[in-house]
Amino acid sequence: MIRGLVQGVGFRPFIHRLACMYCLTGEVVNRTDGVTVVLQCDLATAEKFMGDIRALAPAAANIKSIEARITEIRRYSDFTITPSRNIEETITEVSPDIALCGECLADLAADPARIDYPFINCTNCGPRFTIIQALPYDRANTTMDSFAMCHRCAAEYNDISDRRFHAQPVACNSCGPVYTLRAGDKVVTGITDILRFISGRLDAGGSVAIKSTGGYNLMCDALNEEAVTLLRQRKQRDLKPFAVMFRDIDAVREYCFTDREEEAALLSWRRPILILRQRRELAPSVSSGLNTVGAMLPHMPVHHMFFRLSGTPAIVLTSGNLSDEPIITCDHHAERDLMPVTGCVVSYNREICNRADDSVVRIIGGNISLIRRSRGYAPQPVDLESSAEGIFAVGAEQKNSFCIGKNNQAFMSQYIGDLKNVATYDYYQETVRLFSSLFRFTPSSIVCDMHPDYLSTRFAEELAEGTGLSLTRVQHHHAHAASVMAEHRLAGRVIAVIMDGTGYGTDGNTWGSEFMTVTARDFERYTHFDYFMMPGGDAAVDEPWRMALSCLYSYLGGGYDFRSVKLFRTIEERKLDTVTAMLAQGINSPLTCGAGRVFDAVSALLMPCTRSSFDSEAPMRLESAVCCTTEDYYPFTLNSTVSLSEMFHEILRDIEKPDISLISAKFHNTIAQIILAVCIKIRRETGLKDVVLSGGVFQNRYLLEKSLYLLSMNKFMVYTNHQVPANDGGISLGQLLTAAERRGVCV
Ligand code: ZN
Ligand code: ZN
Ligand code: FE
Repeated sequence: MIRGLVQGVGFRPFIHRLACMYCLTGEVVNRTDGVTVVLQCDLATAEKFMGDIRALAPAAANIKSIEARITEIRRYSDFTITPSRNIEETITEVSPDIALCGECLADLAADPARIDYPFINCTNCGPRFTIIQALPYDRANTTMDSFAMCHRCAAEYNDISDRRFHAQPVACNSCGPVYTLRAGDKVVTGITDILRFISGRLDAGGSVAIKSTGGYNLMCDALNEEAVTLLRQRKQRDLKPFAVMFRDIDAVREYCFTDREEEAALLSWRRPILILRQRRELAPSVSSGLNTVGAMLPHMPVHHMFFRLSGTPAIVLTSGNLSDEPIITCDHHAERDLMPVTGCVVSYNREICNRADDSVVRIIGGNISLIRRSRGYAPQPVDLESSAEGIFAVGAEQKNSFCIGKNNQAFMSQYIGDLKNVATYDYYQETVRLFSSLFRFTPSSIVCDMHPDYLSTRFAEELAEGTGLSLTRVQHHHAHAASVMAEHRLAGRVIAVIMDGTGYGTDGNTWGSEFMTVTARDFERYTHFDYFMMPGGDAAVDEPWRMALSCLYSYLGGGYDFRSVKLFRTIEERKLDTVTAMLAQGINSPLTCGAGRVFDAVSALLMPCTRSSFDSEAPMRLESAVCCTTEDYYPFTLNSTVSLSEMFHEILRDIEKPDISLISAKFHNTIAQIILAVCIKIRRETGLKDVVLSGGVFQNRYLLEKSLYLLSMNKFMVYTNHQVPANDGGISLGQLLTAAERRGVCV
């Protein structure tokens, strides 16, 4: 019995080929709980065979365990692949979607039935999670079910020696899905004509909505400033950077700096969007002044075919949605909502069953750091040390994803988004239903955040009330820490440093610069940054200058001449007075110690920036500003909380002679030095030396690399998130682990 990701990744044909190579008879059976191989042979051969399974398995396969036993069998006269047997209540993994493989790319020009066929695929590539409706992964359980295979495809599908043997989405020019383009009253069919139309439109500065693997994308020429600006306006998108698809790796190298790990991530079958440092400028409004680009390579046949035809080496390829709504998957909605944006919609006649955005990753310290976990990653589980069976973790509020426990595995949903958006909340509930049915999951207990107003908390409360199931609440930053513990299977007590934007604390304040000692079960708060007022509550998140004023007010007092600071001279006088008065009287000014807010404040002072137009804009600009190397940092004091008073005093002095890059670097270094100093203090008092780092602020590459460096130089063992995001997209995994530990179920 072979367990792991072994379905829908060309595993059975691979076993078959291997058996043929060995001249062995027997069978391979797909079951919902894994793949069983029966071999008629001696022990030594079987062992060699198992070694080859591990060594030669297809790229997207992920073997977790191979269990062998000797058994009496009937006589096999050949080696066969036996149809799936449905074993209730047990499951195996569902493969994420796999980018077009090299062989299929070559077939686009060589296979007579598939010349320029834009849905070409084989057992090693093609859509998986996005088309699967039920397990096991067989064609009848996918949205390919409505396409009858032609004789040729059927012959390949049934030919054991063929690369398309049991490739569930197998199709060709005469039997598979097709694209259709609509532009006003014009309808274009035939992929060559469609691509010519798209290419012409993009060359002329236009844009196109196109159905991709997990939802619709919007595209335009990434070198045409007018086109990019126009798309931004039409989409009513703030200044958030657009992702860019490059023609090939050479084109990426021309516009971005890459290293070996980064190129490997770009070229991997997961084909994520990778955050890279920009080398040569694209249209300026692609990245809105940041020095980074979200780069990806073609992953669908149609992308490759487009670049063959078009002159541009780079296109904007962004989610097809309206502002904060989920990416559109339905053709009808695309027609309604995206046609007005682009005037041209390209769709295909196969349904997307599971929505999946493009995943976003970054290489930090030589390792993958996930920012958005979706296509290519979901629904690959995280293996846990102990059982989490039956636990449903609802996640947080922003960048939500939820998580379900099946035995020792945590199945995390794809990126859902911010639940405050009505359409996103609908998507959340729909995905909970889809996941439950796909993985045959019935919850036996529920776990949520402590925040009373999170929609996920309300959802959990209603579910618990309706079903009578128990509900556990986990503190936000404890859950962040537990997500790292789950990934690395850490037991016992560890030091946790959580640098985050927000999160509900047990004292009713907003937390987010947490130094804790934690076990998976509970936490103890050790220290945190000083609390600051957030004048206007959420308004202080949208307007970072308010946080700058609040930090300075708290360390310099109300008597300080704030007008002497450049930032505040750009603020309308009445507004500045009002906010100062709010701070003086503590009106509508909840307390926060979120590290994200301190980044906001410093960024506002430096840039200066008064309004944040997208999530984490101010911290991203601050990181982007660092382009020098210095070890310098500002002084700080560790009292019962961490005082940033001296730092703010010195920053005020430094901005007189502005070297933004240097100040920004010194600020980042200060935060890393604080992390080191507090960890040393905790180690001295407790003897603990394992440190977990998590929270959205650690998506900052400079900060995380600096912290990793300082901590490991000082003999700490440091653990970070690699399988799930460090931001709130990873919270549900931590919730799940904590609930499992508190329940005390062990295997
Ligand atoms: Zn292929
Ligand atoms: Zn066919
Ligand atoms: Fe968080």
